[in-house]
Amino acid sequence: MNEIKILSPATVANVSCGFDVLGFCLDNIGDEMVIRKTKVKGIKITKIEGYNLPFETELNVAGVSALAMINDANPDCGFEIEIYKKIKPGSGIGSSAASAAGSVWAMNELLGKPYNATQLTAFAMKGEALASGSEHADNLAPALFGGFTLVKSTTPLQILEIPTPSELYATIIHPEIEIKTADSRAILPKKIELKNAITQWANVGSLIHAMHTNDYNLLSNSLNDVIVEPHRSKLIPHFDSVKSESLKTGALGVGISGSGPSIFALSKGKEKAEAVAQAMKNVYSKTNINFNVYVSKINTQGMKII
Ligand code: ADP
Repeated sequence: MNEIKILSPATVANVSCGFDVLGFCLDNIGDEMVIRKTKVKGIKITKIEGYNLPFETELNVAGVSALAMINDANPDCGFEIEIYKKIKPGSGIGSSAASAAGSVWAMNELLGKPYNATQLTAFAMKGEALASGSEHADNLAPALFGGFTLVKSTTPLQILEIPTPSELYATIIHPEIEIKTADSRAILPKKIELKNAITQWANVGSLIHAMHTNDYNLLSNSLNDVIVEPHRSKLIPHFDSVKSESLKTGALGVGISGSGPSIFALSKGKEKAEAVAQAMKNVYSKTNINFNVYVSKINTQGMKII
């Protein structure tokens, strides 16, 4: 096999109480990428469609993670990368992660799978660092493993796969506003109160337990973030209304996707997720902000060959 076309999925990170550690993979939203072996060694980005992103290998997250991989693998070929970008950069559903993870996953397939998903995540983290300034894996891990993942630590890199209750669906609203990463970082508290920390780790523990036991009620009352959301939600117009209307409609939980501006909800069953989509649309239709809404099954596979 000399060429492969893949769908590299969008992902939701910072899942409520699981800030910086928990993420999940979306099913029908993602970038398409074509990766081709070449006789000439090295990495070349030959096509980018959809959004304006750098062609220079060292300035594109897909190129940086690919370079990290060939530096380790030293294959006797090179690779060309084509990116058909569907996930808007900066939307908060893992646009950079889809590119960083997609290139190395596809190259690994073409090389006969010498690396496992954790090793691929480590290469892709080099790409993510270019976009965000720090190596983090909370969008990469769900893209590469599928389903829900918990990044237990980054040094050493340890990723846990969390079982996904089968009826779980996500609804995402992406308001087309820009939130600067620097602003969403600056607004976070440097210190937190012990009572909030206790609530948060109790929620993370019970959320993971709920996923293992298919307990949708426990899942619902664990999806709370008392540390980050109260601060960051101020940057997202109408967050409180989207949250309250979605919960009123029957969503299990609602939170900020990544560092925003996208907002996610989790629901039991597709019908409920679609009703939540309508509730979200109703809130944003009354504003002058453009938006997109998606309903997605949780993608337990991750990357797909198309
Ligand atoms: P997201 O959370 O949606 O991934 P980020 O702000 O983390 O958004 O990443 C987007 C940043 O990464 C932008 O500055 C963009 O120019 C840069 N970038 C570089 N290469 C890519 C790529 N292939 N795909 C997406 N973003 C990229």
